[in-house]
Amino acid sequence: MTTPTCPRCGGRFQEGFILDRADKTRATASWVEGAPERSFWTGLKLKDKARYPIVTHRCMQCGFLESYAPKS
Ligand SMILES: [Zn+2]
Repeated sequence: MTTPTCPRCGGRFQEGFILDRADKTRATASWVEGAPERSFWTGLKLKDKARYPIVTHRCMQCGFLESYAPKS
């Protein structure tokens, strides 16, 4: 994947990810298929749903964030 340029200021993007802290464990935020469904056991049902880790680029000039959830 090529690093795009910022649509706002034309600055350069830096690759990163959004840190998601649930129950003190460190994880990357993920995109999950469909609407969120509550689960008594795990908080949210994730079974049988497609899940992709989110890659977020940050503009080094203005701070604009652009997120992608590539297939692998
Ligand atoms: Zn920018």
